[in-house]
Amino acid sequence: MKFGGTSVGSAERIRSVAELVRERRARRVVAVVSALGGVTDLLIRGARLALARDAAWEGVAREVFSRHHAVVTTLVDGRRQDPLLAHLDALVTELRSLYTGVYNLEELTLRTLDAISGIGERVSSVIVAAALEAGDVPASAVDARRVVVTDESFGRAQPLMAETEARVRDEVVPLVERGVVPVVCGYIGATRTGVATTLGRGGSDFTASIVGALLPAEEIQIWTDVDGMMTVDPRVVPGAKVIPEVSFAEAAELAYFGAKVLHPATIKPAVERGIPVRVLNTLNPSAPGTLIAAASGDGPAEPRAIAFKKGITVVLISQPRMLMAYGFVARVFEVFDRHRTPVDLIATSEVSISLTVDDPETVPAVRTDLAALGEVQVLGPMAIISVVGRGFLRRAGLAARIFASLREVNVVMISFGASDVNLSLVVAEDQAEKAVRLLHHEFFEDGRG
Ligand code: ASP
Ligand code: MG
Repeated sequence: MKFGGTSVGSAERIRSVAELVRERRARRVVAVVSALGGVTDLLIRGARLALARDAAWEGVAREVFSRHHAVVTTLVDGRRQDPLLAHLDALVTELRSLYTGVYNLEELTLRTLDAISGIGERVSSVIVAAALEAGDVPASAVDARRVVVTDESFGRAQPLMAETEARVRDEVVPLVERGVVPVVCGYIGATRTGVATTLGRGGSDFTASIVGALLPAEEIQIWTDVDGMMTVDPRVVPGAKVIPEVSFAEAAELAYFGAKVLHPATIKPAVERGIPVRVLNTLNPSAPGTLIAAASGDGPAEPRAIAFKKGITVVLISQPRMLMAYGFVARVFEVFDRHRTPVDLIATSEVSISLTVDDPETVPAVRTDLAALGEVQVLGPMAIISVVGRGFLRRAGLAARIFASLREVNVVMISFGASDVNLSLVVAEDQAEKAVRLLHHEFFEDGRG
């Protein structure tokens, strides 16, 4: 059971987390926790202030202290506070000395930043374990630096699965076998030689998936603050529904569109080992949530969700001389590569290519370089609308329904066929909501679908 920052954001929320774990104890729970909501950002902000030789870093260290102090003193009483406050003191002292180092050296390496930004989980895990114990559930905080062995890519470390598996066996499994709930820090790990690393922002889901895969767990539950993945953004379409089940590939498509529920790369270790991942809501624990499972081929071929992303730029390049020539596409992509500009959708004709880019920053430079290759047009702001589902390549009539429902919307570009799970199109940004509503209505409302 992994609990994110909002789920452990206050004493009250931590109490409900403890209750959720208690109710599921018979299933032999391993908990993975994020830092208290906002704490990782705060720790990083302090580091940047220290780097800029801004004395305000001291205020950040105080805030880290007082934020946790308030939670500890609300959550547990009397005697039980002592070890928690001692632990908090020690970590804030460590934090101050790291900040002082950054300040004095005027240097902040990724390695140092990892040591700093991982402190939040080292506090939260101890607090959550204490909350469980206060509710008569034997629990023990587990510092993930002893469990998740990673490479040395600081800031984005990758787990070394064989080594980590041995650690899971030595550090986590024995607790479970004694009936103790291990409360593992998310997000952090350490290299083979014990240097602290982090798995990248939002990395606690990754921790849950790594540990869950290696135990192996019967199921991985990602407890968050929404009911699961939705058929559409509920702020745009009030009739949005929770998707009961998606495949890994569908979840990956949805993530690109900012279904920020979870990043699919982080659940890969679990999916590869066939362990189901369920997204659940701490605020509404009886809701079934969304199940993400490996299988994608089976089940009816149908749309699962409508996703969209605004702020898209379309770059069109045409070169009539390229008719029947080769190498044009390579030269076009070389330009995007040189400017480190990711390209999302692509459509081509014999003499032209259109592409979408979602960060406009490098577009002017890209445009200048592309001009050497042909005639360039830049269109924006646009939106990508994507119908995400499964089995699209074997479903007759789907495109007809999509385009019929959009008969009043001007479609600028279409991308289909690259995968079985997605048909994407581009419309002007101010048409995005309308297109999304029409598509959602067509596939998910009025008992259709
Ligand atoms: N606390 C870390 C972050 O904010 C990791 C996580 O919450 O998943 O990025
Ligand atoms: Mg998260």
